[in-house]
Amino acid sequence: MKILVINAGSSSLKYQMIDMDNESVIAKGLVERIGTVDPKSNITHKYNGKKYEAEIDKLGDHNAAMELVLKLLTDKELGVISDLSEIGAVGHRVLHGGEKFTASCLIDDACIAAIEENIPLGPLHNPANLMGIRACQKVLPNVPQVAVFDTAFHQTMPPKAFRYGLPKHYYTDLHMRKYGFHGTSHRFIAGRATELLGEGKKVIVCHLGNGSSLSACVNGKCVDTTMGITPLDGLLMGTRCGTLDPACVEFIANTEGKSVSEVLNMMNKKSGLVGLTGSSDMRDVTARFDAGDPDAKLAIEMWTYTVQKYIGSYVAAMNGCDAIIFTAGIGENHIRARKWVCEGLSYFGIKIDDERNNVCGEERLISTDDSKIQVWVIPTNEELAIARDTLEIATKK
Ligand code: ADP
Repeated sequence: MKILVINAGSSSLKYQMIDMDNESVIAKGLVERIGTVDPKSNITHKYNGKKYEAEIDKLGDHNAAMELVLKLLTDKELGVISDLSEIGAVGHRVLHGGEKFTASCLIDDACIAAIEENIPLGPLHNPANLMGIRACQKVLPNVPQVAVFDTAFHQTMPPKAFRYGLPKHYYTDLHMRKYGFHGTSHRFIAGRATELLGEGKKVIVCHLGNGSSLSACVNGKCVDTTMGITPLDGLLMGTRCGTLDPACVEFIANTEGKSVSEVLNMMNKKSGLVGLTGSSDMRDVTARFDAGDPDAKLAIEMWTYTVQKYIGSYVAAMNGCDAIIFTAGIGENHIRARKWVCEGLSYFGIKIDDERNNVCGEERLISTDDSKIQVWVIPTNEELAIARDTLEIATKK
């Protein structure tokens, strides 16, 4: 069966068509500047080892974007299917499932209502995800659709890990708690770790990309994670500041005459690596570090220190650790970043083998044979995880 995976953002739509007979990606792409003030939209479409890029007349909404995607997928030259009936099911990435969704689910009216209910928790993403779902329902009315939530994997956390130390009604009435994100990636990696290491293991998954989060997993189930009610919490990221004293918000709002939303926008989009150095991309920051830029040096020190501190806290939280796993853009590809992190963890008996660590984007054990905690690189694949869930749910009798 061929499955279309959709990740709809407020002005973008990413897609992948996966042939589940051999789990291969047969086409993928990105539509940008949908319904924005820009006069044009953009499309990048990759198929059969080729790439088609174009600036096109402005697409007014996600319906128009979905129509374009389906047109490309079935195009005589650029397409990979001859007819829309070849699409067996559609899987949607949905950001916030709140406490309702502990797993992926078939999209029906009740599911849509629940995603709507969670809009206060994911005010930017959930409405965009719903636009993607509705656009697909319109153009593919008879194809089953599945929602895969970024938060679902973390729903196994115990209250001591997910509750905030706020007055109780903020949780009971407003559902304020730690939810965690990147759950599809953490689940994919934790599942693979169980296959590699066996059942019952304590594992720390380090999803280090532009957005970054760690999870502590016991026997494949999440017991803690670094992101909170929103993805702002936890590690220092490409554009997010991560954990800081919440009083900073009032301090900046008062001194600069900004609204709380403006401050949070700055903390989400202009902080972290980009705020400290002017670049959000770890490759650029590393190049500047190598050239002797003191801002880049400090940013890398802070980035590394934060990852180390959370790893240390999760070893304590689980009272032990069998493996640390690096994944996502930085985790899979940045050889020195993995070394920087692990060098500071020698107290735990962690030893990296430099030759094994000389790897990008490939699954490999990178610790020495006598390292007390194994260290692995495991490439993540959120789209494949979404497609696998979609296949399972859409074909369930
Ligand atoms: P996201 O999905 O959150 O947008 P990614 O997982 O794609 O992000 O990760 C992007 C990050 O990975 C960037 O900081 C980028 O610099 C880093 N990255 C990607 N490839 C490499 C590489 N070869 N070496 C070092 N860093 C890399």
